Amino acid sequence: MGTPRETTQAQAETVIDRLEAEYPESAISLRYSNRLELLIAVILSAQCTDERVNQETEHLFEKYDGAEDYATAEQDELAADLNSITYYNNKAKYIRSACESILEDHDGEVPDTMAELTDLSGVGRKTANVVLQHGHDIVEGIVVDTHVQRLSRRLGLTEEEYPDRIEEDLMEIVPEDSWQEFTHLCIDHGRATCTAQNPDCGDCVLADRCPSAKGDSEIDLASGDPW
Ligand code: SF4
Repeated sequence: MGTPRETTQAQAETVIDRLEAEYPESAISLRYSNRLELLIAVILSAQCTDERVNQETEHLFEKYDGAEDYATAEQDELAADLNSITYYNNKAKYIRSACESILEDHDGEVPDTMAELTDLSGVGRKTANVVLQHGHDIVEGIVVDTHVQRLSRRLGLTEEEYPDRIEEDLMEIVPEDSWQEFTHLCIDHGRATCTAQNPDCGDCVLADRCPSAKGDSEIDLASGDPW
């Protein structure tokens, strides 16, 4: 019980195979109907649940139609329209500024390179990876959100702490054609079973391969703390 495979590459393959069987419909859960909506939804999703973002964007995407609407919106009004979202004031600023850049520098189109995307306000590598993958069908890296971060460490796929370093490790061991899917599988498993506070190791399809599994391990490798 709780014995990882002999290499991190083999461990990653087992994780993917088992989670694929468990979550055959794994996919992005943010709702959007074009690239700009995707970008905005991902900016809003930082430190916030996808469910909350989807509730808020339902009316947001009806009211604002295109980059110009956001770029010319009053800060107070846009912030008020986002006020159920964490850090809504800052996120309203980011969205207005990103949309100004999209209009001025990119002919109104959401850019399709990592460098151009990460130049936009409020867009880091994680957000850019999501927009490239789902908006442009370009898979340049692995999206490392809080679930990927936690599960990768618990499962012994990385010992790194920070998302950019974790992504580098994962890109070495996860087969490239699974980069996009890997994130969604981790998110599904992180929500359903391997939750942050109280993972259900007794009902986990990875328990026999997980070096953090409660009962076998005293330590949660994600935090380094005892269970
Ligand atoms: S639920 Fe437990 S056994 Fe399963 S991956 Fe998470 S820590 Fe490991």
